[in-house]
Amino acid sequence: MSIKDFTDKVVLVTGAGSGIGREAARIFADQGALVYLADVGAHGLAETKDLIAELGGKVQAARVDVSVESEVAALVKRIAKEAGRLDVAFNNAGVSGQAHRIEDYPTADFDRVIAINLRSVFLGMKHELPLLKRSGGGAIVNTASVAALTGPGGMSAYAASKHGVHGLTRVAAMENAAHGVRVNALAPGWTETPMVVTASAQNPGFAQLATTAIPAKRGAHPNEIAAAAVWLASDAASYVMGQMLVVDGGMTIGG
Ligand code: NAD
Repeated sequence: MSIKDFTDKVVLVTGAGSGIGREAARIFADQGALVYLADVGAHGLAETKDLIAELGGKVQAARVDVSVESEVAALVKRIAKEAGRLDVAFNNAGVSGQAHRIEDYPTADFDRVIAINLRSVFLGMKHELPLLKRSGGGAIVNTASVAALTGPGGMSAYAASKHGVHGLTRVAAMENAAHGVRVNALAPGWTETPMVVTASAQNPGFAQLATTAIPAKRGAHPNEIAAAAVWLASDAASYVMGQMLVVDGGMTIGG
């Protein structure tokens, strides 16, 4: 058995209807896992489900708003009932929020971004951890961002949420290292997903950043980020705990 083999493993991926989550779900399924896809968007969810089913993967889908505790709790309960276990959770759903200076930032949007990006990771882990432990241990990967390390102007809600994901990840890793559950975060840089493509279309200056600010002179393909998430979740990373893996084409090398 390969250390990246997920045969008979049960994996939950949130934000699986698009971008990084879709790619990760596809790789987990390709490695033999039964994958539960969760997303608030019905269309993207159905597309990912069809894609994985067409490739012969084992897949289930749930329309879930990850910021709503009752929906997250119901999803984990469903996984326990149907699959009887959970081995990996990739808490990845997120939104970028608007771009404004703090003094102009709409408070409602700040609250929304924190709820979707940070509260969701707390709620996810709160409900996933008991099932992971009952399953004999496993791994959690939370999607942060290079904005967990930097302070991109205009992105107060996003940066605060992602710094928070880093902190939550470290606490969860500390609390669960002795209980067989590894918890790590992933910090993608500029990744060519709908989130970034939309922002680039609205702001050509933002699009130019990809070639000026990234030493690799290109954004990542979602697959390059998803592969890192799968590695963190795999037995290949069995001694990696409480870390944030930065995958950014060198974007933060210079500090
Ligand atoms: P994406 O927009 O392609 O996918 C995000 C998915 O999350 C969408 O399918 C969306 O419907 C879902 N989602 C949004 N709100 C939700 C909610 N309340 N409940 C459930 N699902 C919800 O974006 P992506 O680039 O694949 O982003 C995935 C993660 O990666 C996010 O956490 C994002 O912050 C992070 N990230 C992305 C980049 C990048 O450059 N694309 C960089 C750093 C971090």
